[in-house]
Formats: sequence, structure tokens, C-alpha cells
Amino acid sequence: MNIFIVGGAGYIGSHMVKRLGQLGCAVTTLDNLSSGHRDAVLCGEFLHGDLADTALLANLLQPGRFDAVMHFASFIQVGESVQQPAKYYANNVTNTLHLLDAMRAAGVQRFIFSSTAATFGEPQYTPIDERHPQAPINPYGRSKLMIEQVLEDYDRAYGLKSVCLRYFNAAGADPQGELGERHDPETHLIPLVLQAASGRRADIAVFGRDYDTPDGTCIRDYIHINDLCEAHWLALQSLMQGAGSQRYNLGNGAGFSVQEVIEAAQRVTGKPIAVRDAPRRDGDPARLVADATLARQQLGWAPQFPDLETIVAHAWGWEQKTSGGKP
Ligand code: UDP
Repeated sequence: MNIFIVGGAGYIGSHMVKRLGQLGCAVTTLDNLSSGHRDAVLCGEFLHGDLADTALLANLLQPGRFDAVMHFASFIQVGESVQQPAKYYANNVTNTLHLLDAMRAAGVQRFIFSSTAATFGEPQYTPIDERHPQAPINPYGRSKLMIEQVLEDYDRAYGLKSVCLRYFNAAGADPQGELGERHDPETHLIPLVLQAASGRRADIAVFGRDYDTPDGTCIRDYIHINDLCEAHWLALQSLMQGAGSQRYNLGNGAGFSVQEVIEAAQRVTGKPIAVRDAPRRDGDPARLVADATLARQQLGWAPQFPDLETIVAHAWGWEQKTSGGKP
């Protein structure tokens, strides 16, 4: 299979490129390297370019060249999206429309889209299944929901089949230690906690201890990066077999609090981790947990690394490697 991967140099995309390469697919990655890393693209062809470059897209997406497109290139910081919505709508919406137009022109009819739990907004109930109303509360979530809606319309009008995968909290790293999370600046909990354990950071700030949860800290559903990649692979196969468009929530269905993540990191690393209490972060719901029954039933998806300590251990392997091998 020939797969076009946009954003293949980023955290999730790079793990996907590796996986598809192992599965024998021919992979072409397009990435503008605004946050990704060239050396994270471990196989296939790499092209440095931007989705805003419509001539480049038209040239790349020649009829018959690709069986499917996976789209990982987006801006993902909720707080930044509130301050700079134009940046988010330009990249996450307009540039995605360029990609879809180029696909239409080339007759590429299969698309896998990285969506997010942020499309749901403040949960009305948990765990969150696909029937939960989508009412995002920030431009990031809205930009992703807009594309989900565009994809419904494009299926109806143009027959483009898509799978929207709504990630809850992507975490962990390549178990073989070749890839991991490299955001700059890093804003995600697990890598930050591990940087505090390795000594790269003085401490970890806990954003709020007064939530309506058993220990007062926010609860999230952490899902291993390889399990996310497996869901993409299964979604790709289902599209290849002629399935219709689908949307799936992807998580383990188990929530862990910020405090529990810190304690798991202490157990995994054997290091003391200095903790600092900080105010709540804007836009953080108390509890986000996925009901992924539909993906399990329809795709046959079964997470291989559901255990929080395993997720943290893989991320710790990566942190040790990138922090200069400090024990
Ligand atoms: N969090 C925290 N301290 C940090 C970073 C994150 O307490 O330095 C909390 C955050 O408020 C949220 C959870 O950890 O409740 C997961 O945040 P992250 O940014 O990793 O993912 P998000 O849930 O925003 O997608």
C-alpha cells in the first residue's frame, strides 16, 4: 500500500511512519518541520513542505499514486488556540481543506484524520462515547470538529471515506526506544513529570487540587502511542475493505489523576519528584475518559499497553535517552 502521511515527523506521525514501514507499506511523509523532527522519520520518502503550498500538493498527489492519506499535521495547544485562533483555523482548517482538495483532484478517496477528545468540550457524562454531544470550548477543539463536519459533507457529496480518530491523552513512546515525545515547549503531563524525575526540570506543577475528583486533581485517559497507531492501521484496513466513514473515540477507558500519574512516575523511575501546587489551567475539564467500545467492536482494536506504569516506563526510556542518558 502507498500511504501519504502529513505530519509524519511529529510525535504520533513518526510512530505511525515506523509502524507502516514495518508492515511493508510504502510511506511518503510531508512535514513542514514547524514542530516535527526530520530524524524522527525512520523510513520512506521525506518531503519538507507545507499544506499551504497547493502547487506542491497538486504535484505530489498524482492520480493513482496513493491509496490513502493520514493527516497528523496540526497545532495542538489549547491555550495558544485561545490566544491565536487565526493560527489554528489557518493550519487546522484551511490547510486541511487544501489537502482534501488535492485528494479530490487526484481521486484519493480514503482519509484518516487525527481528531480529539477536545471536540466534546465539557463532558456531560463519562466515559464519553461517540453519541456524546460535541460542543468544543476552545478554538483547537472547534477547528477539529469543523473538519469532522467537512468530512461528513465530503463523503455525502464526493464519496470520500474517512475515519476520524478522537484521541484522548496520547502518551508513552516507542518500546524500542527509537522515538518519543519531543514537543518544544513541552506542555504534556507525563514528559514534564519525567523531566522533573531526570533533573531536567526542578519540579512538576499540579494545575489545581480542587476538582471534583477523589484526590482533587484532574483525571485523564492515557493511551499508549503504539495503541493509537494500531487503531490507525485497523482503520486503514477497514477503509481498504470498503467500510464507510466512521468516528471512534480512542482511550483505555480508565482514568488516572494527575496525582496518580506522579506516583506512577515515582514508582517507575525510583526518583523523588518535586511537586508544586499551581492554579487551575483554563479549559481543563475535571474528568475525560473514553468509552472506546465502538472501536473495539468495529475495528477489533485491543490496546496492547493499557497499563499506566508501562506507558510511563516507555516514556521514561525515551526521557533517559534524550536527557543525555542520565540514570
Ligand atoms: N497538568 C499538570 N501540570 C502540568 C501539565 C499538565 O497538572 O505541568 C495536568 C493538566 O491540567 C491536565 C493533565 O495534567 O489535567 C493532562 O494535561 P496534558 O497537557 O498532558 O494533556 P491534555 O489533557 O491537556 O490534553
